[in-house]
Amino acid sequence: MECQFLGGAGEVTGSMHVLNTGRDQIMMDCGMFQGRRKESNEKNRYFPVDPAKITNMVLSHAHIDHSGRIPMLTQAGFSGRIITTRPTQNALSYMLLDSGHIQESDAQYLNYKSLRTFLYQEEQKKKNQQLTNKEKSEVKRLLKKNPYDLDSDAIARLQNQYGLDTIVPLYTQEQANQALSYIDGYPYNHEIPIGRDTTVKFYVAGHILGSAFSVFTVKDNGRIRKILYTGDVGRFDKPILKNPTLTFDEQDTKIDLMIMESTYGNREHGPVADLETSLKKVLLDTQERGGSLIIPAFAYGRTQELVYVLHKLYESGQVPRLPIYVDSPLASNLTRVFGEHPETYDKETHTAFLEKGLNPFYFDKIRFVETVEESMRLSRDETPHVVISAAGMCEAGRILHHLRFKIHNPKNTILIVGYMAEHTLGRRIEELGAQAVQEPGSPVPEVKILGKSYPLAARVEKIEGFSAHADKHELDRLITQSNLEIGKIAVVHGEASQSNAFAAHLKEKGYDAVIPGPGDVLSF
Ligand SMILES: [Zn+2]
Repeated sequence: MECQFLGGAGEVTGSMHVLNTGRDQIMMDCGMFQGRRKESNEKNRYFPVDPAKITNMVLSHAHIDHSGRIPMLTQAGFSGRIITTRPTQNALSYMLLDSGHIQESDAQYLNYKSLRTFLYQEEQKKKNQQLTNKEKSEVKRLLKKNPYDLDSDAIARLQNQYGLDTIVPLYTQEQANQALSYIDGYPYNHEIPIGRDTTVKFYVAGHILGSAFSVFTVKDNGRIRKILYTGDVGRFDKPILKNPTLTFDEQDTKIDLMIMESTYGNREHGPVADLETSLKKVLLDTQERGGSLIIPAFAYGRTQELVYVLHKLYESGQVPRLPIYVDSPLASNLTRVFGEHPETYDKETHTAFLEKGLNPFYFDKIRFVETVEESMRLSRDETPHVVISAAGMCEAGRILHHLRFKIHNPKNTILIVGYMAEHTLGRRIEELGAQAVQEPGSPVPEVKILGKSYPLAARVEKIEGFSAHADKHELDRLITQSNLEIGKIAVVHGEASQSNAFAAHLKEKGYDAVIPGPGDVLSF
């Protein structure tokens, strides 16, 4: 029996592994590479295995770095089924379409940029000198419907006219939609037949709604072999979701190969922060200044955790009941998915909400903004409110308009609740906010939003503790405090510094741990 590691090996994105049982080739996850645009685009376009040879696919959870290349699989000859949990299936119907939309927009933007450069050069040749900014704007105007929207028809027409190459999206929304028909959702803790001699069973992973540990059972020449793929491992004691499973069914405890993530294999998060206390303080401070609270947040997981904690605070009467707006169509849809799966909630959520007849995500003070017009009206609204909007790192989306209208006002608070990658607007706001605290009285810094400069006078606050990934102690807990007996461990999904440290830790404890590189095949 073999396992090949094709992505998310020695790195954190692009998860894809193939289990070869001799009779079946089962793909585990089919994720997209993320990071620097050029590099990840090249990696994403290369599909490292013939989709027609894959008999079935098992998906650990809906995050795009685990699911984002599914439409490429289904477009290229795959004829099996994609097996996952029911909440993940529901979430994918929004996440994959959104991903298709992003692929189309990215391709359109790259086409716009290359055509713009070409047209500048042509104009320059005619004039025989550099173009003025005004002349450049005239070229741009040819390619845009308005300052924010590209004119795709005009771009396609001009590319055609000049015989320029067109960049095609990785996949379209339509192709993402077709991929959905391959996906079958199943409940946790049920044995699901997936190959000729193979079954899979999902256990709660506690990472995001629908995330699962997959235990494969393979009949191999009269022997039973067990493979456990962790996908991403969650944290213990987080709001809403149950903890990662530590007690597996008796027949699933002897594991021949465990494929384990190690994102934070060398990091300690500290205890799950007291989100309620932190959020309460930020809300009270903002209310005292008569301002609004603006929270950039990822649509899946983070948004719902915020809504949950805010609802709890409102119920307890500890904070002013400001109106809350969730302003991201994707986040609104995914909140509905959360609402449809109470079977995945932990005990605390049942006690605090369900047993009182309350829905954690829907109450009188919350409104899910739908139309662009309503969103624009809200961005200009100066009566105090809370708005949770995407994109999480402020690189695109409706959050930009809320920032545009509110960032100059010292009454308002911008609350950072997630990781902000380098070179993003979110990171810049986070850093400038920290600087303002360290150097009080220094001049108000400026930030650029949609091409214009705005003074950052709003207060910037940060709450840690929202991470969805287990740290090294929690990963260790899964190994040492569960009822698993593990033969071999393949450490994946981590940068070298994290995977090496975690594998070394496992070896110290007497485990047979390896770190496969991309393309490596492990026989076991
Ligand atoms: Zn994940």
